[in-house]
Amino acid sequence: MTPQKMDAVEVFAAGEKGRGLRTTKEMKTGEVVFVEASFAAVVFDSMSMHVCHSCFRRQVNPHRCAQCKFAHYCDRTCQRAAWEEHKHECAAIRQHGKAPSENVRLAARALWRMQKHKGKAFDTQLTTLDLLEDHISAMSPEDLKQLKVDVDNFQNYWQGNSRQYSTDYVSHIFGVINCNAFTLSDQRGLQAVGVGLFPNLCLVNHDCWPNCTVILNHGSQTALDSALHSQRRIELRALETIPEGAELTVSYVDFLNVSKDRQKLLKKQYYFDCKCEHCSNGIKDDLMMAVKETDGKKPSADLVKEVTDFSVEALAKIEQARIEGNFHEVVKICRECLGKQEPVLAETHLYQLQVFRVISEVLSYQQSFQEAAEYARRMVEGYRKLYHPNNAQLGMATMRAGVTHWHAGLIEAAHGLICKAYAILIITHGPHHPITKDLEAMRTQTEMELRVFKENEYVYHSMREAVLSNKHMSTRLVKSK
Ligand SMILES: [Zn+2]
Ligand SMILES: [Zn+2]
Ligand SMILES: [Zn+2]
Repeated sequence: MTPQKMDAVEVFAAGEKGRGLRTTKEMKTGEVVFVEASFAAVVFDSMSMHVCHSCFRRQVNPHRCAQCKFAHYCDRTCQRAAWEEHKHECAAIRQHGKAPSENVRLAARALWRMQKHKGKAFDTQLTTLDLLEDHISAMSPEDLKQLKVDVDNFQNYWQGNSRQYSTDYVSHIFGVINCNAFTLSDQRGLQAVGVGLFPNLCLVNHDCWPNCTVILNHGSQTALDSALHSQRRIELRALETIPEGAELTVSYVDFLNVSKDRQKLLKKQYYFDCKCEHCSNGIKDDLMMAVKETDGKKPSADLVKEVTDFSVEALAKIEQARIEGNFHEVVKICRECLGKQEPVLAETHLYQLQVFRVISEVLSYQQSFQEAAEYARRMVEGYRKLYHPNNAQLGMATMRAGVTHWHAGLIEAAHGLICKAYAILIITHGPHHPITKDLEAMRTQTEMELRVFKENEYVYHSMREAVLSNKHMSTRLVKSK
């Protein structure tokens, strides 16, 4: 049985939000509130040949299940560890002739698991999938249509099993998946590779300014114990000191949207009206839509409208050019857009921040590090005024900006950013996460380089050339998508 720490929390009635989780003792910033292994999880359809179906690590040449020819594994250790959750699936795929979509595979894995454990896989599990909300009554006609497709596909796939389930029951499971499934990333936390269900995590309600964050931690790959080797665990970590008895919250959406847009997103995907403090009072909405003041004068409302309308169109074109891989075009439109935005919008305006993000990523991909660093710096400065100081996205963006500065040879700024990123990731990811470890190595490296730089710039530049020819560490950190 997987060790799971659940002694610091309890379920309580959280008013109109339904059930919630609260602390039973004070939690410190960065403390792990609880750890939970997945109840069921599957690799995305698009990743099924590139990611181990047991431990969810990316693999160049994974070993294929000889029977279904669908599942792939790092090696026999991972395959053996996964057999218990794969055996029914393996038979079903063979009988069905092909693997169904990820949602259907997840629902089936969840049901096989429930049959085996009568709903509860761990003593520490505080709820069952039967008890979770499905929100089917609030679904739109399109959502209901998709639900029906999933249920039909499921019934075809499930045919060979002795125990059959009613359409209503299967619909409930899909409803639960729809609003509770958690996206799983690869071992470096850089790419989404699958989706899983974590019943205890489902009990944690949303707040746009949450006191916790969820992070996936794959544990140690070198562990010989296969139970640890293949673990897909999440950690709920405290972003600040949480007093005893306080409700634990995470954010289901990115904070960088004005409150009415976050509320719209939450309503559409999770079927509730967010009444958190930040939404109710529109906190930081003004900064996200702020205009630039020059000598105490604001631009006219007409000009602001012209620039924001232009930005919306430009951002759509940028996205299109990006999808087409036309990076030259992306940079061109970004520059044109910034030319219009810079005199009119403040540097915390969401539209300007979006352009900073894209142009810094693309320029760094094109190895124009000096210019990329400048945009990355301005982006991070804007982010710091908007995000919670310990927000994970802020930490990751700061880390990328640090690496870009390092590539640009701006060692002083690079080291400063890497240190700031480390201070955030040690809280959001913890000291044992692979990204934190990479960042720690990067911090040591930049610290040493900075010392050399201060002593002798010439020596620094020749040393940097040598390090850049061995890019292994930095490219691992920069590769975001
Ligand atoms: Zn594996
Ligand atoms: Zn198989
Ligand atoms: Zn809110």
